[in-house]
Amino acid sequence: MAGTDRPTTQAEPSAPTPRYEIDSYARSIRSRVVEVADDREWVILEDTVLYPEGGGQPSDHGSLAGIPVSELTRTQVGVRHSLSRPLPPDADDQVEVTVDWPRRFDHMQQHTAQHLLTAVAQGRLGRPTTSFHLGSSVSDIELDGPALTGRDLAQLEDEVNQAVREARAVNVHRISREDYDDRSDIRTRGLPDHHLGEVRLIEIEGLDLTACGGTHVASTAELEGVKLLGTEKMRGGARLYWAAGSRMRRRLGDHETRVEALRSALGVPTDELVETACQRLEQLKEVQREVRILEEELADALVSAFRLDPGRLVSQHFERRGAAFLKTLASRFADGVAGKVGFFTASAGGTAAFVVVTGAGSGFSAAELGAGVASALDARGGGRDPVFQGKAPDLDGRDAAWALLDRTLGT
Ligand SMILES: [Zn+2]
Repeated sequence: MAGTDRPTTQAEPSAPTPRYEIDSYARSIRSRVVEVADDREWVILEDTVLYPEGGGQPSDHGSLAGIPVSELTRTQVGVRHSLSRPLPPDADDQVEVTVDWPRRFDHMQQHTAQHLLTAVAQGRLGRPTTSFHLGSSVSDIELDGPALTGRDLAQLEDEVNQAVREARAVNVHRISREDYDDRSDIRTRGLPDHHLGEVRLIEIEGLDLTACGGTHVASTAELEGVKLLGTEKMRGGARLYWAAGSRMRRRLGDHETRVEALRSALGVPTDELVETACQRLEQLKEVQREVRILEEELADALVSAFRLDPGRLVSQHFERRGAAFLKTLASRFADGVAGKVGFFTASAGGTAAFVVVTGAGSGFSAAELGAGVASALDARGGGRDPVFQGKAPDLDGRDAAWALLDRTLGT
């Protein structure tokens, strides 16, 4: 779900400040059970390390008393933990709640990278962020204004990574609603009207100050790096994709594995991969064109031979040919073989196809004959006169289908 880069600070003053806001690095705590309901399938604790979705950051994964937590919801008295199975009746008053730390730390990296990107885009390009989405492999922000140029992207990426190298502290402050309303140095405005308590501010030292309730790293150095992955124009703005931190390194690793597989498959060095792949695709298209021409020539030659066939029912099986060839053959047959019925089958690469076609003046309906053949082959098919075609799991019923046609035609 896309967030709107609006503050997600604890909106209800009655709920105590949760641990994930005080210490984003807390992986596990013991906390008192405050409320249990719905056959013990959800629990509210006095405190929690699990972040419930908000501001573009997804809910954490984690466990409560060893039970996986399936959903987290903000309520007036605290975070409601929906459990994947009921809390046992003999559970202690104090239970342990634990966050899936690798996933959470990844979210902290992406979320802090978003603050940094948003601050630089605003400061250098004058482009406010209108939305933030933290995806499972790629994250994006939407920037107000026209499409981003290659130069914009290069400048943004350079400046953001400069700030990573500077290892700027990321600090958390809490101020009163009155102080918040008086200050003009806070980037994100638009606090919800119902917000009554303190406002949580996230500061990237010397760069940015914004109201936010999410989880963040303590220094920009922990971002490791930020790589912009692309941009697309959208109504009223531009979407910008990026990856930061360990997922950026994993992504690079995955790319290297794929490039190695392509080098091995195509037998060329990395810088020749694209050109070689394009050449091979062109060659493939050319070969496919040649095959089509040869199949048309083959169909013409076959039709000439079928005209001389003494029987009314003409039948043949083709190995290493597919439905496309049968279609070509049927079309030539319908136009060129008067008074006869054709029944053709083909198989290639574990798939089988068939076609029933009637020549002009045969006195039979391909649709009716074809339905019988499909039944005999235990296959599916369709079509309108003069051609009925279909695909079959195998051609075990071919002789039975032929016998059926032979009887029907009375040959
Ligand atoms: Zn934030």
